[in-house]
Amino acid sequence: MLERGEVANSWRRERWDSLRLLTPNWQSRLPGLRYEGPDPDGYMTAGEVTEFIERFAKVSGAPVRVGVNVTSVRRVGDGYHVTTSRGEIHARAVVIASGACNQPAVPRLSDAVPASVEQLTPFGYRGPAQLPDGGVLVVGASATGVQLAAELRRSGRPVTLSVGEHVRLPRTYRRRDVLWWMDASGVWDQRYDEVEDLTRARRLPSPQLAGTPERTTLDLNALASTGVELVGRWAAVRDGRALFSGGLRNMFSLADLKMERLLDTFDEWAKTDGYDAAAGPPERFAPTRVPESARLQLDLRSGEIRAVVWATGFRPDYGWLDVPVVDAKGHLNHEGGVVDSPGLYALGLPVLRRRRSTFMCGIEDDAREVIGHLARFLAVRGRS
Ligand SMILES: Cc1cc2nc3c(=O)[nH]c(=O)nc-3n(C[C@H](O)[C@H](O)[C@H](O)COP(=O)(O)OP(=O)(O)OC[C@H]3O[C@@H](n4cnc5c(N)ncnc54)[C@H](O)[C@@H]3O)c2cc1C
Repeated sequence: MLERGEVANSWRRERWDSLRLLTPNWQSRLPGLRYEGPDPDGYMTAGEVTEFIERFAKVSGAPVRVGVNVTSVRRVGDGYHVTTSRGEIHARAVVIASGACNQPAVPRLSDAVPASVEQLTPFGYRGPAQLPDGGVLVVGASATGVQLAAELRRSGRPVTLSVGEHVRLPRTYRRRDVLWWMDASGVWDQRYDEVEDLTRARRLPSPQLAGTPERTTLDLNALASTGVELVGRWAAVRDGRALFSGGLRNMFSLADLKMERLLDTFDEWAKTDGYDAAAGPPERFAPTRVPESARLQLDLRSGEIRAVVWATGFRPDYGWLDVPVVDAKGHLNHEGGVVDSPGLYALGLPVLRRRRSTFMCGIEDDAREVIGHLARFLAVRGRS
């Protein structure tokens, strides 16, 4: 196992200070290691996640070699030639577990933002104190965007949140964490070959969830009630002005509708599983409030906005992979983690084999199946 940094590198280096997992502690489980502390319904801090993964590295006896950067993987003969910062390796099979979120995905229009406005990504952001005083425009309303907007607003700054497609979820539903419902109802176990539109499922933004000790819901209504101004998707910059799409009403109703469908699925499952009586009555939530007049543009030269925080998602980095298996959009071509090149495998990508694939609790089942395929591949090769 080659790791360019330290064990749990992404959790040490690429997360902001206040981040907690949005998955509850009882869902932090890796093969042979699960959370056994006093607060199963709490949410780990990034430091606790680092410790958890470090412990796993020890308990599992994984042969990790840290400080080894892989700079190239090429197909040579019946295997792969791997070039690293510490030498060359020939491998008959390679598993790509380099992560789904290696770099922030920032749209091109960021180039047109006036230089007087500071720009940050979640990789550079540590906390509000780092930003200049004054207004902040947070772009993106998925898990990262809503969490950073809330934190920046609490620091006393005026915050504008640019909202594109998003996934609304309540933190708790019928007395349980909403991710308990995802787990128990089997929604998270839906397999990649059963998902209707797999490409879309793999690009779905993360849910609007935060892991706070109070287990509060952090949807757009909650943010608006703290004074966060909601605007539409950032479409262009013209003459120093940020231009936002209209149509917030439609976007909000779509997210509300999808949330309700998901809650219907939970309710149906509860009935058939006999859980209904214990769970308390089904709940429904107020529709997302549409601002009376959402601004369609904002002058970035006026001084109103001093910083832009890009919470527009993350993307993997395959710059080191010299095998033609990455499409024009930078996504790996694979079928359930079996990459389109003999002996090449992947783990830890969105909906790799199940909806839960990118979450820590998703790796065990995916790894068993992918490594099963790898073992059969090596066995067949060994006989030939
Ligand atoms: C902001 C954020 C919040 C998240 N919150 C949650 C959550 O609440 N719950 C949850 O379950 N999951 C969460 N996730 C997903 C989380 O990242 C995964 O659960 C987990 O960290 C994925 O582990 P991984 O090993 O697949 O990828 P990573 O953690 O990205 O690890 C990949 C490793 O590969 C190394 N690497 C990459 N390229 C090379 C190379 N060329 N050579 C050598 N080494 C290399 C990197 O240094 C890194 O250490 C979150 C992700 C993000 C970005």
